[in-house]
Amino acid sequence: MLLEGKVAIITGGAAGIGLATAELFVEEGARVVVADLSEQAGAEAAERLGEAARFIRCDVSSDEDWATAVQRCLAEFGALNLLVNNAGIAFLSGRMTPENLSLEECRQVNRVNVDGLMLGCKHGIAAMRRSGGGAIVNLASVAAVFASPLAVPYGAGKAAVAQFTKTVAQYCAKQGYGIRCNAVLPGTIDTPLYRTFSEEVRAANLRGVPLGRAASTREVAEAIAFLCSDRASYITGALLPVDGGLTAANPLRAGD
Ligand code: NAD
Repeated sequence: MLLEGKVAIITGGAAGIGLATAELFVEEGARVVVADLSEQAGAEAAERLGEAARFIRCDVSSDEDWATAVQRCLAEFGALNLLVNNAGIAFLSGRMTPENLSLEECRQVNRVNVDGLMLGCKHGIAAMRRSGGGAIVNLASVAAVFASPLAVPYGAGKAAVAQFTKTVAQYCAKQGYGIRCNAVLPGTIDTPLYRTFSEEVRAANLRGVPLGRAASTREVAEAIAFLCSDRASYITGALLPVDGGLTAANPLRAGD
């Protein structure tokens, strides 16, 4: 199995891409800590995943919660080898354009998407060093490379995640920690939220996607599992789009 014997923390593991990742990791032989703000969904997810999983309530934007989560992971499973910084939010109240944004909302979004992820790396690196090395995967987005005029803090934050991923990769390599750090950049993903969109909105979302469909959460989880696995042993500092070709496509030649 791809992740046999590994211990992982997956933030935002109670739903969506995080839940699909937790399911796949357990199938691939890992023990998993689902670290999520949502107590009910997190506890239910861990129960469904069985003996190989634990739920720990963790607000990723809290330094104290991270310290507790990592301590509990080490106490329960004896190591930390893999960290998936997946928890993220897009909006609190609605659209935020460059001339119509609330500073408090910007701060709240990126307290989770950026601060939370940096804290995760800080605590994760310390625990992985004690566990003999490991791998980190950060969830960025195609919004890291495209303009994001209706979700300004989200796009800016995901670009920060991409940059920070490279920094952590280089830092850990230079320190000789045996810790790799990569990011995945999902495009359009078939989540419950996506299914609530109208046909028109979904069609607009898929315009420009060469594969012509949304990805399943499982397809994103597969990329995360690969980057966490020893099969990716020479890959660090990489930004891997999981977007059906969206970021590779030439907008000037979309019809070809
Ligand atoms: P989701 O909304 O389905 O689930 C997010 C999970 O994170 C939830 O369980 C939520 O409780 C948890 N969470 C939120 N704030 C938290 C906090 N402060 N601390 C701990 N947990 C918290 O999300 P998703 O759509 O599966 O997205 C997962 C990641 O992938 C995010 O980082 C998102 O930006 C990124 N992404 C998603 C898509 C997409 O289309 N779904 C596209 C690109 C990138």
